[in-house]
Amino acid sequence: MARRGRTTIEWLLGIVSRSHLVEGGCREWEGARNDSGYCVSWAPEALCAALGLAGRLVRVHRALYLIEHGTLDPELHVEHLCGNRWCIEISHLEAVTQTENNRRAILTRDHDLVGWDRFGWPPPNSEEEPVL
Ligand SMILES: [Zn+2]
Repeated sequence: MARRGRTTIEWLLGIVSRSHLVEGGCREWEGARNDSGYCVSWAPEALCAALGLAGRLVRVHRALYLIEHGTLDPELHVEHLCGNRWCIEISHLEAVTQTENNRRAILTRDHDLVGWDRFGWPPPNSEEEPVL
């Protein structure tokens, strides 16, 4: 019998089990991150097919946003309202345009120069580019 792949529920439970709550209400991911410091994971085939994704490596916060809201314009950025790239708490995420994302990034740089210290530099990398 062929080995059964993970179901979406098993993947989601795995995401939760590899994260922890921190002060401020963020749920920080403990798994892999890509070159930009975003949390990435291999999503199950069934989920990727349902989401219409060509590959399986996804940025966790974008995948969770899409699952929660049912739709995500690929042109939109899923921004962390908390400013914590490691956070996967769905209520801390908002889909915004590139223009709005840039505007907020400038505000953050001007007023929160310790941000990069928190995330570390350079961030840990991953071999592949996420598809989502
Ligand atoms: Zn957060």
